Amino acid sequence: MERKLTCIICPRGCRLTVSGEGDSLTVTGHACPRGQVYAINECTNPVRTITSIVRVENREDTMVSVKTAAPVPKDRIFEIMGLIRSTTVTAPVKIGDVIIDNVYGTQVVATKNID
Ligand code: SF4
Repeated sequence: MERKLTCIICPRGCRLTVSGEGDSLTVTGHACPRGQVYAINECTNPVRTITSIVRVENREDTMVSVKTAAPVPKDRIFEIMGLIRSTTVTAPVKIGDVIIDNVYGTQVVATKNID
């Protein structure tokens, strides 16, 4: 197996090549160790942090920005986005408030204060 990726850890955007199978993956093209870790994770257990918005029920035309507190499995993003879309909150909301608990081992938390 050979797979080409662009590292998204920093703006340099190194072009990575991952070759091998199973536990024997080799990464080339990385300018630092973070790229190697990213490439192996991307090929074995890809995850992403989700950012989105949730409607505030008691504030007309108001949304609160949210994100997952930790990265979640990439293949669950659409499912989690559906959960976020179907959620509403009531103000006040503070940064760090848990909006949705138990989402693939983490939480969806507020990233904005709504008085
Ligand atoms: S490999 Fe290192 S230097 Fe290259 S894009 Fe990734 S984090 Fe940045």
